Amino acid sequence: MEEEFNKLIKELKKCDICKNKFGFTPHPVVIGNTNSKIVQISQAPSRTVHESLKPFTDQSGKKLKYDWYQITDEEFYNPDNFYIAALSHCYPGKDKNGNDRMPPRICYEKWIKKELEYINNRIYILIGAKSAKVFFPNDNFNDLVFKDNCLNSKLTLVLPHPSPLNIKWFKDHPDFLNKRIYEVRTIIKEILE
Ligand code: SF4
Repeated sequence: MEEEFNKLIKELKKCDICKNKFGFTPHPVVIGNTNSKIVQISQAPSRTVHESLKPFTDQSGKKLKYDWYQITDEEFYNPDNFYIAALSHCYPGKDKNGNDRMPPRICYEKWIKKELEYINNRIYILIGAKSAKVFFPNDNFNDLVFKDNCLNSKLTLVLPHPSPLNIKWFKDHPDFLNKRIYEVRTIIKEILE
């Protein structure tokens, strides 16, 4: 089981099937093991992470780790704590209008679905509306953020994207920072203890 998982991750880290679509060599980013307590799935690495190859080393990451979760890098990057993946394991680049490209669906079908089969996690955290849509296609994103959800019989927390560009969502939903994030943080602290 462990051997199969390690083989899968080794293959994943060499994957470049989106190279032509992106127009550059993709850099797959993933951290974790089969015993990670929390599986966290976001949308896609940023350009900064494409360079650093370490997830959440950008402005979004600082907000997520230090403001929202209030944990250290040692806790966050400990593979026994977090399995850190995204719908697109690689930075997908920009479209012709300068917007971030959508995470390629093939990454979920080819890799993420298989990775999840091996991990004995306690909870899931989904970050961003695109990530939530894949796992809860029929649910309203805002409803998912403000309640405890269930995926594969496990508690699943849904978070808005911590990007500094996501200003309007936070303005429209003040209860997230005033209330919900405290509940999320409490759950994470309990799991990591
Ligand atoms: S985004 Fe996923 S499918 Fe595409 S090259 Fe990266 S690892 Fe492979």
